Amino acid sequence: MTQRKRIVAGNWKMNGNLSLIETFSSTIQPKEFPGVEIVVFPPFPLLSNVAAKGLKTGSQTVSEHDAGAYTGEVEAKLVAELGGEYCLVGHSERRTLFKESNEVLVAKFAKAQEAGLTPVLCVGETESEREAGLTEEVISVQLNAVINQLGVASLENSVVAYEPVWAIGTGKTATPEQAQQVHKFIRELIAQSDASLAAKLPLLYGGSVNDENCDLLFAQPDIDGGLIGGASLKPEAFKRICESAVGNV
Ligand code: PEP
Repeated sequence: MTQRKRIVAGNWKMNGNLSLIETFSSTIQPKEFPGVEIVVFPPFPLLSNVAAKGLKTGSQTVSEHDAGAYTGEVEAKLVAELGGEYCLVGHSERRTLFKESNEVLVAKFAKAQEAGLTPVLCVGETESEREAGLTEEVISVQLNAVINQLGVASLENSVVAYEPVWAIGTGKTATPEQAQQVHKFIRELIAQSDASLAAKLPLLYGGSVNDENCDLLFAQPDIDGGLIGGASLKPEAFKRICESAVGNV
């Protein structure tokens, strides 16, 4: 039996509204999923509304700066003040669409932790990188950016999400074996610096997880839960995924 924290997190991206919060919170009662931490990442303005429903919440990104003249940005401390406990860092849409480099992401990771948030560091390869056999190299660079700059101990209060870019929003899920192989690689890479930290670190899989494929993914030994995009907008499907985590992870 794993001693690691089990987490099922929903990334709403730029979706959702007050009405979804109502449906979601009446469908998902966290106490019905013992041992599983359920987290919702809504758009920024909805953070306190989600928290007010007794759901754990967090932001989809955070500024790498302290408060100041950065129009449109949101400070990590404000996320915490609004009831946020987590923060996604390095989601592939941020890396690609918003050109966030590993350097910027390390700064965001640090700001999140300074504010008391738990960063969920997202890593993953593109389809062409996988085809070129570069999966492990890409993930090492993404993880080592944090380890080399902030020290391996910074991962103590964090979560890592393996999200192959080719599986996000595409309906093409990694097979349970492919996902397990990369999760094991991530755990071993971190274990090279700190074995006990690596053994405790929650590793989530993300990429087209749904209510049908979650069981086999969550049954893998190094998969401690999921980061769910599209299916987190469907409360019944998300509920089923949370149930699966109770039984399988
Ligand atoms: C995500 O946005 O992190 C994600 C995994 O999306 P989807 O589940 O829709 O692939």
